[in-house]
Amino acid sequence: MRAGYYGPMTAFVRGLGQAGEMQTTDQPGSTTLDGHMDRRLGAVLGSVAGDALGAPYEFNPPIPAREPIRMHANTTWELGEWTDDTAMSIPILRALAHGEDLRDSDTQGRIVREWVGWAEDAKDVGIQIGDVLRAVRGRMRGIDHVAELSRLALEEAEALHQVRGRSAGNGSLMRTGPVALGYLDDPAGLIEAATAISSLTHFEEDAAEACVVWSLAIRHAIFTGELALREQLGVLPEESQQKWAARLDEAEAGEPHEFENNGWVVAALQAAWSAIVRGDGLRDTLERAVRCGYDTDTVAAIAGSLAGAVYGASQVPDEWRRELHGWPGQRVDALVEMVEAIS
Ligand SMILES: [Mg+2]
Repeated sequence: MRAGYYGPMTAFVRGLGQAGEMQTTDQPGSTTLDGHMDRRLGAVLGSVAGDALGAPYEFNPPIPAREPIRMHANTTWELGEWTDDTAMSIPILRALAHGEDLRDSDTQGRIVREWVGWAEDAKDVGIQIGDVLRAVRGRMRGIDHVAELSRLALEEAEALHQVRGRSAGNGSLMRTGPVALGYLDDPAGLIEAATAISSLTHFEEDAAEACVVWSLAIRHAIFTGELALREQLGVLPEESQQKWAARLDEAEAGEPHEFENNGWVVAALQAAWSAIVRGDGLRDTLERAVRCGYDTDTVAAIAGSLAGAVYGASQVPDEWRRELHGWPGQRVDALVEMVEAIS
């Protein structure tokens, strides 16, 4: 069974020569250290802002350009409240702030344990993730080592895939933003960590591949302030490179709302990328992402993780930043503290 999980990772590792070279090509050079930290923070706060901006628009059809997008409350979400996208990324961020390695099964087990606790009384949990976490919770009794929870999650993610025949929801890409922060000097490690964290709930290869290329692009953006997503495809297996290159072509040719099935990781990434390449600054990018309709908060959270790493947290409007809050009773300052603690 393990071979199944690590199949994609093995394939990535084959391409690592290429990822390794990036270490020497995109170290911070022309950019200041302040800018570097602003973009690290942006990878998190850009995503959080997109999540809270999109939350009250979720499940609705696309929003036409004439209608303004505004951060607001609805019957489920308070003004500025973040949703599952951010909630699930917080245990990842916390682990990195504590100096833990996301590839370590103890760390993964602790993250799964936090997710299970969160999901028990969360306002909203995605279907696929809810199913996996419920199944893990049902088997938790009698577990005597936290690393076992990582194994249970991997098993349940695969079991769900076998039953449904698919498991590439957008729920692992939505939480991948912080992963890059722990591996800025280690692209090979980043590929492994992004794959491992995605695989805890998502068995299908598309989900892990999306997380890998998005995370590498976030890392690149933090170092350079530049967008380079297509340039990351080289770490994927040959057939995946072509598949994703064609998907990025489609995304660049279409508006975010044209990728309607955006609960699927591929369409969510395409909608987010479409918003990013069209966007003029962070705010405009997030508004374009939210206009896609349906899974608005997740598309905007995904777009925000990469766009935030390009533009920096200083581009999150103050009137949004003041309102951002959510599980587990935190505000932006707690997230900033965790990002700053990652060495
Ligand atoms: Mg959400």
